[in-house]
Amino acid sequence: MKKLLIMMMAVLAACSLLLAGCGGGEKKAAAPEKIMRVATEPSFAPFEFQKEGSKEFTGFDMDLIRAIGKQAGYKVEIQNMGFDALIPALTSGNIDVAIAGMSITEERKKVITFSDPYYTSGLIIMVNKDNNDIKTIDDLKGKRIACQIGTTGEKKSRSVEGAKVVAFNTQSEASMELKNGGADAVINDAPVVGYYLAQGGDKVAKTVGEVMEAEEYGIAVNKKNTQLVQDINKAMAELKKNGEFDKIYKTWFGEVKK
Ligand code: GLN
Repeated sequence: MKKLLIMMMAVLAACSLLLAGCGGGEKKAAAPEKIMRVATEPSFAPFEFQKEGSKEFTGFDMDLIRAIGKQAGYKVEIQNMGFDALIPALTSGNIDVAIAGMSITEERKKVITFSDPYYTSGLIIMVNKDNNDIKTIDDLKGKRIACQIGTTGEKKSRSVEGAKVVAFNTQSEASMELKNGGADAVINDAPVVGYYLAQGGDKVAKTVGEVMEAEEYGIAVNKKNTQLVQDINKAMAELKKNGEFDKIYKTWFGEVKK
């Protein structure tokens, strides 16, 4: 009996040694995982949105940041935030990255760093389908304009003389306000307006005029986080080279713009 006990103890000891060995080995092999805390404002299809009944973030930006994370060795964690809260969250260090169809502007560049541009966009005016009075931005003088808080669309709206500007938390609310007759026009990014119209919005609304001056989207990072922005730019360049970027682009926009 005593012999058996000793033998069992020896076996147990050997096992635990083996296990410890394994564990130790594993620890050495896998570097501590880097987390990328990402925030977005998901009322901006096809760049970021949540399909009805789903909490999952989907869209071009979401696929892009997940692919960048994978390429650069980060675990990407995405959270939802108001558009106007994104830059403060970056500067306070609550998040590492904001990707939200955010246009690279001189004003924003004073407080945060942008990655290399990844998409060329621009603002456009949307009105109700039966509105034939508004044809250019000059026709918006003194009119009611709906837009999203903290966006370039809001800035443009506020530059219109005498306009009554209502800034909403989400783009969806701005479009709803137009539909409900609470606004004469919406100023928003052209690809987002295009997607909205293509998804059935064209029954009630239309665009007027051309896309205003071009705006480029960039991924926003805290100014101090130079390593992260380098990692993002390097990964993005690799994805452009290996065809992954074009694949994601095609998923959301069809053809590849060169
Ligand atoms: N591109 C616009 C901006 O940067 C709008 C972005 C958005 O509404 N998500 O202000």
